[in-house]
Amino acid sequence: MVESSPRSFATKDAYDVVIVGAGALGLASAYHLVQSRSDLSIVVLDARSGPGEGSTGASNGMVRDVFSSWDNHILAKSSIAFYRHLMEEHEELRAPSPLLDLFGYLWLLPESRRQEYESLVSQSEGSIDAQPVSLEKLRSCPGLDVTPARWYEDDGVHAPEPISSGLFGRNCGAVAPERLVRFYYEQAKRSGVEFRFDSVVQRLSFEGREEILLHEPSKLPFAFQKEMKGRLRISGVKLGDGRSVRADHVIVAAGAWAEKLLHPLGIATACSPRPQTLFSVSGRVVEELLRWEPPVNPVDTDDGRARFPFLILPTGALLKPIFRDRQMWVGYEDSVAHPIGTREDPGKDGRLDFSMVAMGDREAFATDVLPAVTPYLPGFGTSGVRLENSWGGYYHFSPDGLPVLIEEPYGVIFVGGDSGSGVMKADSIGRLVAAKYEGKAEARLFSGESYRIDRLSLDHRAVQEERIIL
Ligand SMILES: Cc1cc2nc3c(=O)[nH]c(=O)nc-3n(C[C@H](O)[C@H](O)[C@H](O)COP(=O)(O)OP(=O)(O)OC[C@H]3O[C@@H](n4cnc5c(N)ncnc54)[C@H](O)[C@@H]3O)c2cc1C
Repeated sequence: MVESSPRSFATKDAYDVVIVGAGALGLASAYHLVQSRSDLSIVVLDARSGPGEGSTGASNGMVRDVFSSWDNHILAKSSIAFYRHLMEEHEELRAPSPLLDLFGYLWLLPESRRQEYESLVSQSEGSIDAQPVSLEKLRSCPGLDVTPARWYEDDGVHAPEPISSGLFGRNCGAVAPERLVRFYYEQAKRSGVEFRFDSVVQRLSFEGREEILLHEPSKLPFAFQKEMKGRLRISGVKLGDGRSVRADHVIVAAGAWAEKLLHPLGIATACSPRPQTLFSVSGRVVEELLRWEPPVNPVDTDDGRARFPFLILPTGALLKPIFRDRQMWVGYEDSVAHPIGTREDPGKDGRLDFSMVAMGDREAFATDVLPAVTPYLPGFGTSGVRLENSWGGYYHFSPDGLPVLIEEPYGVIFVGGDSGSGVMKADSIGRLVAAKYEGKAEARLFSGESYRIDRLSLDHRAVQEERIIL
């Protein structure tokens, strides 16, 4: 995605901090850590050949601050404000295409969910900027069937719920993940953070700093050593090719693969990865939808004209407009069709053969996606829509849909659990990781709000379950 510097291993072999993972979360963490502690020596290690080539590169790149949990709302809202601020500060993030384009999200809601969404907005007391859209106005959407008769051809029994109204989220739209990645990567590098790509971390190492007892040959600690205050420390990481990098602290931001490094140490993250796929489509039906001028009032317009928003159907199917390519990206949050887990195991194999393209399960377009789209947009079942491409990555689900940030007393920090919305919260999460490293109880977000970091821990977790996962 971003050009990486040639592999150089002639640099140091000991650092204050090793960050495993150069995805959105690892990069934002590196950036904010070096901003607050320029005295630290930091290296980011990633198995891929450049930054942002894990799930971040597969992402839909959508941002929203409409969440049911207050924590997700303010973490995303502050990050979106920061991304907007970056555009104001850096001309290259405004053109040729903007880093952030707030064209809006439009939820098409059945009666059973309308009240829930409306009360979410009213309870936020103005913090969530969203407006109801009447059924009458929605009827102007070309080809939209608001009262579908059946899920798919052979199912004569069940009908999906009719649409009763819409909700338009204004502080919502698209961010370009590759440009965000480039910003964090280049800025962190400029500030002295080192990056090493093609470097697979196979395991975290404990070594007896003060000659404590260790299991041999695996160099794992004995259970009782956890009680020996200050004695048990992480000492670094071992790479798949046999090399080692020493470090006082290791921050694991390895996304879907984090558990492969942490479970062998007995560190539970409560998170689990699941594959997710996106499909790009084009054709006459797509073109007609892209020409729709919805009756809404977005933050960003095309010369004062509202554009096709990110559309969420009652079935959960998602349609993202790609105006430049006259395409749509279509997806569906999958929590049943694919098994939990990753296909790759860097902890065992010492390599990470992740491929976005190989994860693009093309057949799922017909079996999983079309039945969720065609009831409301029957044109998708015709030759007016052509499947162009498919790719995939992982959502790293936490049990409640909020990020997880934990620290072990021996120098390991884990951040993850993006639950499909990590890019839109990356900036806030990076600030929390930096503050956590510094031993602070609170972090200051870009919005100016103070956020108590242990709200996202597992021991003192204090968050409400997120109900809007897309
Ligand atoms: C199809 C899809 C659509 C999505 N849509 C959105 C969206 O619209 N908006 C949004 O906000 N989020 C979205 N997400 C989620 C978003 O992509 C994630 O929240 C985000 O990318 C998580 O960033 P990360 O840094 O934790 O993980 P990653 O980007 O996966 O980064 C982890 C990095 O760690 C590296 N790594 C892992 N293990 C090792 C190891 N042992 N040694 C060395 N390196 C290692 C990997 O190579 C990788 O680069 C989507 C995800 C998918 C898959």
